[in-house]
Amino acid sequence: MYQKTIGYSRQYIDQDDINSVIEVLKSDFLTTGPKVDEFEEAIKKYLNVKHAVCVSSGTASLHIAALSLLNKGDKVLTTPNSFLATSNAIVYAGAIPIFVDVDAHANIDLNLCEDILKKGNSIKAIFAVDFAGNMIDPEGLIYLKEKYGVKILEDCAHSLGATWKNYKAGDCKFCDVATLSFHPVKSITSAEGGCIVTNNDYIAKKALMLRNHGIVRNKNEFIYKDDDNPLYFEMQDLGFNYRLSDVHSALGLSQLKKIDFFLETRRKLAKIYDAAFVDTQIKPLHTNAESSYHLYVVRVNFKELGKNRSSIMKSLKSKGIHLQTHYIPINAQPFYQNMGYNPHSTPKALEYYNQCLSIPLFVGLTEQDQKFVIDALKSEILS
Ligand SMILES: *Cc1c(COP(=O)(O)O)cnc(C)c1O
Repeated sequence: MYQKTIGYSRQYIDQDDINSVIEVLKSDFLTTGPKVDEFEEAIKKYLNVKHAVCVSSGTASLHIAALSLLNKGDKVLTTPNSFLATSNAIVYAGAIPIFVDVDAHANIDLNLCEDILKKGNSIKAIFAVDFAGNMIDPEGLIYLKEKYGVKILEDCAHSLGATWKNYKAGDCKFCDVATLSFHPVKSITSAEGGCIVTNNDYIAKKALMLRNHGIVRNKNEFIYKDDDNPLYFEMQDLGFNYRLSDVHSALGLSQLKKIDFFLETRRKLAKIYDAAFVDTQIKPLHTNAESSYHLYVVRVNFKELGKNRSSIMKSLKSKGIHLQTHYIPINAQPFYQNMGYNPHSTPKALEYYNQCLSIPLFVGLTEQDQKFVIDALKSEILS
């Protein structure tokens, strides 16, 4: 029997996207050609920022941004409720993550951040994640930045397109650097891909160098004299191959043109869920209306209802509905526990994890499928 699978998220690809990629495949450049520049220009324009440096993944963007902000041994406040890449980037840079508990939005709690900063623990930076697409209060971050001199990295993997009053996720008005991901489940996709955005010239220069093996080709920036070789270049730092290809950039560029439609659709679907769960024990995660709705998360107190989340997930899966739990607290992972971290140090993140479910939300979700999901969820959880 054919049965449809409805996952928690998926990409939305149209004929324009396909044509853009085919065009590159027929051109002279598969990588590091004009499409990378065009994609970067479009991102700069969309976010109104000075620099955009595209790289091969969101993780690569976090790695490079971390290297541009941190020195070995620096302490960084971050959230346990994120994809692993956020805190891994801190560890890649030889720095030390400090997991801070979450607030009612399941975002890093800025009051707890201030408690730590007040004690003068020489914290270098805050790596903040706009969880599910719901921005962290920019004014709260500016306050901490100005009062305590911490650097701010905004991980916008979920929040491209989200706004808060006059602020936009990734606009770099309240952070030193922001990172984007173009993985298929994110706001827009380039299949794999990411970007570092900043108004800081030093960070941008460092990112450009690190994404291509630490190589410098600008004559004026050479450390040694260039000899007669017209192709002379210098490796000035230990970098990587984190370049984004023209094929990926063409897809990303084509997707970015549709971002307003994507956001509008996600917000419309979210409103339908909001209305369906009013006055029930299925509690939508608090968000503001300008969330980019990367995820639609509901919280359910399974214990109180005498229910078991795991069996509910399995039963829904048998009907074709694949739910997710975002996120297992990072400090619960064996790698981090072996380093001495412990999920009980952030009890709210742990409690949140035990109650959360990410339910299907993506641009191609049909009205009929959404209704099927709502009815199935209600009958599993509320009956
Ligand atoms: C997806 C994601 C990343 C990593 O992005 P990739 O493109 O998959 O490497 C980083 N941080 C968060 C919060 C994410 O959701």
